[in-house]
Amino acid sequence: MADVYDVAVVGGGPAGLMAAKIAGENGLSVALLERKENITAIQRSCATMFAIEDEYYFGERMYFNEEQGRLVFPVTGFSLPYTGPYKNFYAWHVYTPDAGHYIKVGDYDANVQKGNKGRLSVTYSKKELLENLLADAEAAGVKMFTGANVIDHRREGDVNHLITAEGHEFRSVFTIAADGINSRMMKLLGLNKERSFFGTLVGVSYYMTGLSLPHPEAILFPQLFHKTTQYPIMIWVEPSPYGEDEYWVYAGGPSHPDIDYKAELDRCIADSSFSNWFADAELQRKQAHVANIWSPAPTPFKDNVLITGDAGWTVEAECTMSMMSGLKAAHAVSEALREHKPNQEGVQNYIDWWKHHFTDSMDYTEFLTVLTSGLVGEDMATYLYGLVTDTLPCSLNPYNLFNNVNAAIMRNMPKIQGERPDIIAKLQSLGAMPIEEQMRNIIESGFPNT
Ligand SMILES: Cc1cc2nc3c(=O)[nH]c(=O)nc-3n(C[C@H](O)[C@H](O)[C@H](O)COP(=O)(O)OP(=O)(O)OC[C@H]3O[C@@H](n4cnc5c(N)ncnc54)[C@H](O)[C@@H]3O)c2cc1C
Repeated sequence: MADVYDVAVVGGGPAGLMAAKIAGENGLSVALLERKENITAIQRSCATMFAIEDEYYFGERMYFNEEQGRLVFPVTGFSLPYTGPYKNFYAWHVYTPDAGHYIKVGDYDANVQKGNKGRLSVTYSKKELLENLLADAEAAGVKMFTGANVIDHRREGDVNHLITAEGHEFRSVFTIAADGINSRMMKLLGLNKERSFFGTLVGVSYYMTGLSLPHPEAILFPQLFHKTTQYPIMIWVEPSPYGEDEYWVYAGGPSHPDIDYKAELDRCIADSSFSNWFADAELQRKQAHVANIWSPAPTPFKDNVLITGDAGWTVEAECTMSMMSGLKAAHAVSEALREHKPNQEGVQNYIDWWKHHFTDSMDYTEFLTVLTSGLVGEDMATYLYGLVTDTLPCSLNPYNLFNNVNAAIMRNMPKIQGERPDIIAKLQSLGAMPIEEQMRNIIESGFPNT
């Protein structure tokens, strides 16, 4: 074990593996600490869309080039080999709870006709992506420590100390925190105190075969409602990259003591207006996730720890932004060490990059509309979604998606005024509330790791 590493990376997801690979390739001594025994085993639900191919997202215009087998990030300035399995999808359909109507995001038939050029994006193997990053990091000399659960961080003089639950200590000049959405590093550094908490998202996902879907190469998004609480349940069905006839089927939403999301997923499959999609379905594998919803870290740095990926963002940075920030953080550390500035000044370009591309250019409250748009309840949501008959622009950006849907609903205002004045009154009272008040119940039933 090196006495003091140039950099210790906490977490071996997309952000941490990318950070370790780049720092190793740049010639730094690097330790990567991952609490799982098997770094590339995917235990947490992920839709594995290459997010996002159809527009700028996190300041990047990324795309998949299948001819070269590369994931390309032209703005940040890098590409990665990817020759694993993938599936195109061509539209996003948001269904009313009675399955009687769906909002079309993207023109499915026209896009299918165009083939690869018409797709919204692809789903791809996160496992293969992580395996590639891990192989590169190992080839670059990164020391991997698995089964290493970081439980404490201290800064003593000019050295950072990481302590693991297993009783080991790692020392480094810089630390890169890449420990994901419920980051313990953010808590240890006290950085969650600078953020607002908006509740906890929980979900369950199944990989299934044998589905009969109306549009098999689209993302299907039935909106259900919990019977007693009337909380919106987000159901999500999309092509899985992992098997020929396989789909990823998900149910999730804000945590609530009365809601069992696995039971809701089973209800959707066995006893809902969508059950005919699943008549011959077979369950292959299950996963789940828990994710705290925070406002983004305003400054992704403290005590010589650089924050990357989900650890510092709002649900979710996506694998793409996580890799971008891992790469940028590793380059910033390399430059700081060459300049003999092992401090905040040395990595200021990373902090500026984060602020410019993320906190300053993306409004995290837009994401919250994914959660608040269903708060009107089943009856009103069914009516309102039923009004949207035009095909909406192809956007997968969760920060715009429901804004686009809401704007399309608002174009029907005169009709709503005539037919459902009760809905206007409800929307006005919700609209007059600050977001914290709209989400009060969701926030109160969450469990923050401050
Ligand atoms: C339902 C759902 C759907 C999603 N769909 C997509 C999608 O379609 N496309 C997309 O790009 N992204 C998607 N995401 C988001 C994506 O999964 C994450 O944004 C991405 O994995 C974040 O990468 P990360 O490296 O920042 O964190 P993570 O992938 O969470 O990695 C963090 C790593 O740190 C380790 N760790 C945590 N704590 C410690 C500790 N104390 N000590 C040591 N190690 C630790 C963890 O074991 C983990 O390996 C989805 C997420 C969810 C929940």
